[in-house]
Amino acid sequence: MNKWVYSFGDGAAEGTAGMRNLLGGKGANLAEMSNIGVPVPPGFTITTEVCTHFTKTGGTYPDELNDQLEAALEKIGRATGRAFGDMKKPLLVSVRSGARVSMPGMMDTVLNLGLNDETVGALAEDAGDERFAYDSYRRFIQMYGDVVMGLEHHDFEAILEGFKDEKNLDLDTDLSAADWQVIIERYKALVSDKLGRPFPQDPRDQLWGAIGAVFGSWMNARAITYRRLHQIPESWGTAVNVQGMVFGNMGDTSATGVAFTRNPSTGENKLYGEFLVNAQGEDVVAGIRTPQAITEEARMESSAPEKPSLETALPEAFKEFQAICTRLENHYREMQDVEFTIERGKLWMLQTRSGKRTAKAALKIAVDLVEEGLIQPEEAVNRVDPASLDQLLHPTIDPSAERNVFATGLPASPGAASGEVVFSSDEAERLAGQGKAVILVRVETSPEDIHGMHASQGILTTRGGMTSHAAVVARGMGKPCVSGAGAIRVDYQAGTFTAAGKTLKAGDVVTIDGANGQVLVGSVPMLKPELSGDFAQLMEWADKVRRMKVRTNAETPADARAAREFGAEGIGLCRTEHMFFDTDRIGAVREMIVADTEAGRRTALDKLLPMQRGDFIELFEIMAGLPVTIRLLDPPLHEFLPKTEEEIAEVAEAIGVSPTKLKRRLDMLTEFNPMLGHRGCRLAVSYPEIAEMQARAIFEAAVESAKRTGSPVRPEIMVPLVGLKAELDIVKERIDAVAKTVSEESGTDISYDVGTMVELPRACLTADKIAETAHFFSFGTNDLTQTTFGISRDDAASFLPTYQQQNIFEVDPFVSIDVEGVGALMKIGVERGRQTRPDIKLGICGEHGGDPASVKFCETVGLDYVSCSPFRVPIARLAAAQAAVAAGKD
Ligand code: ADP
Ligand code: MG
Ligand code: MG
Repeated sequence: MNKWVYSFGDGAAEGTAGMRNLLGGKGANLAEMSNIGVPVPPGFTITTEVCTHFTKTGGTYPDELNDQLEAALEKIGRATGRAFGDMKKPLLVSVRSGARVSMPGMMDTVLNLGLNDETVGALAEDAGDERFAYDSYRRFIQMYGDVVMGLEHHDFEAILEGFKDEKNLDLDTDLSAADWQVIIERYKALVSDKLGRPFPQDPRDQLWGAIGAVFGSWMNARAITYRRLHQIPESWGTAVNVQGMVFGNMGDTSATGVAFTRNPSTGENKLYGEFLVNAQGEDVVAGIRTPQAITEEARMESSAPEKPSLETALPEAFKEFQAICTRLENHYREMQDVEFTIERGKLWMLQTRSGKRTAKAALKIAVDLVEEGLIQPEEAVNRVDPASLDQLLHPTIDPSAERNVFATGLPASPGAASGEVVFSSDEAERLAGQGKAVILVRVETSPEDIHGMHASQGILTTRGGMTSHAAVVARGMGKPCVSGAGAIRVDYQAGTFTAAGKTLKAGDVVTIDGANGQVLVGSVPMLKPELSGDFAQLMEWADKVRRMKVRTNAETPADARAAREFGAEGIGLCRTEHMFFDTDRIGAVREMIVADTEAGRRTALDKLLPMQRGDFIELFEIMAGLPVTIRLLDPPLHEFLPKTEEEIAEVAEAIGVSPTKLKRRLDMLTEFNPMLGHRGCRLAVSYPEIAEMQARAIFEAAVESAKRTGSPVRPEIMVPLVGLKAELDIVKERIDAVAKTVSEESGTDISYDVGTMVELPRACLTADKIAETAHFFSFGTNDLTQTTFGISRDDAASFLPTYQQQNIFEVDPFVSIDVEGVGALMKIGVERGRQTRPDIKLGICGEHGGDPASVKFCETVGLDYVSCSPFRVPIARLAAAQAAVAAGKD
């Protein structure tokens, strides 16, 4: 025979915390609390398997269910000395839903079930309190009418409010037993009027009605939507908990409340919660009366210090509650979120689960639990969500600060910043040069704004979503960004922007909050990120367990330094084109590109060589012997070129050609699809002198910084966008030749590696051949995702949202590696690369390198390192540690 019903309470239970899948979270924890002797009103759980049966059969129950339920009801009766439907000592129950994970959208709880016109009298007599009995009955009709019978909550509220008006009464607690009796009659009339049938009087009808409503709610529209958004399978089902009632509304020694065993926003080890005297169920959260603080300490800091705390109001119950909270924490080894009720001085626990908390609290609690000896460091590492660290690495707005909100957009990149408003990137750079803090305000940004974004404290755009250019680049730079603030109108001409009738102008100070998308008027006090203490401790533990190294993507000295502070163990990607964009170099770069002879190009390259060498020396010195991977020039050439007539005239003059000639050359360079055009190693193949100049700059810098610092530098030169071994061979030959020359010139041995960025499907598939030449692979998963899907990220904005709405992508493949497709190619690349060269160095340098799910995937395929933007380094360190722990368990 199948077991469909599991009893709990009275110091024992048939279930345990481990049976979450069968009993749901609430049921499993009620069982667990019973097992460890915490006072829990007796009850039983109807399993999630019954839900599955119910859903599949269109609303029927397994045959044995009725008998098992009756037996379990009797068990509650024996424990409480009552019986369900009994006219003298009626048993009342609550009916509560509870899936494997907590899930809004499901049926709400029904309390006081079992009351009817007869039993209410018995309850009154038994409790010696008429008012309490009728208060409970009216609550039951209202809840059952709303939740099970589908009537409107506000229709009941209207009756109650109307009555209070008639009688000139204010609070629910002012109503007498007789008053409630009048209301009950009106409630019942409402039910009959609306539904054409009376309110059910038979307790068993009530019970089965409520059970059916819980199981039915598993398939309601709200629940289905919630499951879809959170990827919860329909097959899980929900459990139903039926539990003997305890009453917090039995007068002044009764109460109900909720609490966290530690402060969920700071993590402080202090009980944190609220309660109400003479109240029931969710009165505390419903906001009918102002709840009271649980501890004396919290009362003094609360907004209603005149109301006594539980500690003074019901000291015995408080002491027991405090002890139980400690016991639950010790048992679960985790901060708990609990519900309790006190019935005439006697404490009952009604729920426990691990408590939701802020990133800051998560960190503190994890570290404290290790120090208290409750968990091991490795477990602490597992307890903190790596992505949440983002909140801790940036300045945040002081929570007590006043906010004058000007407009709200999307929280595109975390952190907060204040500065003067500027409307162009050039202006941003100019003012930043004078030491001013600026916020760049644009309708949207493009690659031409990189220098302005770098110069700004934060970026605000009025168009574009979470994956717009501004959002992606800002996150990479670790700068706060609010994007898509659609209510703002920008007038570049006038140098103003307007929202809700209010206008600000260039030079006015604003603050943006990348945590919630707000744009605030003026400068607002901030809190600095706290990188020592708990954070440093957790990171130290993470570093001990992780296997993969974490490097950074950086080309500026500032980024490289920041990354080292965040614990980067080298540079995994230095994008040299970013060095070419520099304002004082772009002239020489353009000269090089438009030159139509090799000699012309070499003249321009000679100007760039010392600058590049200078860049690399600085990076090598900052990295002090750690590995540095430098990628040869990659982007399509047109990105460097002048666009407007004015710019063309200017450049033509600077390089000494006629504007007409320049324009002709520009036309020749125009491409239909630059992403698949003349870029990557194709540039190095057709213009090897560019690669030679870069190689020379790298080697000379390596020699020079080794001399200066005394620690040898072994550069890793990365050739981008290789699809064929022959491409890499040609470029590597040039690099080797330069190495030899520089070695002879300097009289030093130069050791270095040449490898490739794997970003084309063909490179993955022919990795065995490419590895004959390549010393390392670094998976460039941004391009690899584009080339695998055949989607250009820059053009995807028009259809990606629709794709996401229709669930075609479970996750955005540009945010988290598409394991099935892109991941499969990576796997092939890894396997075939290692076949040829077992000690080949393998890494990833796409933005995915800072995404925890992707980092986990990288661990499973055995990469040696991940590389990500500086601000994501701690996230990657923690994610890599968690991945290593998970891999160890498999
Ligand atoms: P939710 O999942 O929405 O929190 P619950 O099932 O936990 O719903 O219950 C809602 C409220 O009713 C909670 O405050 C809970 O403590 C209270 N409650 C549930 N069952 C009982 C009971 N048997 N006796 C007294 N209060 C109860
Ligand atoms: Mg609720
Ligand atoms: Mg609850």
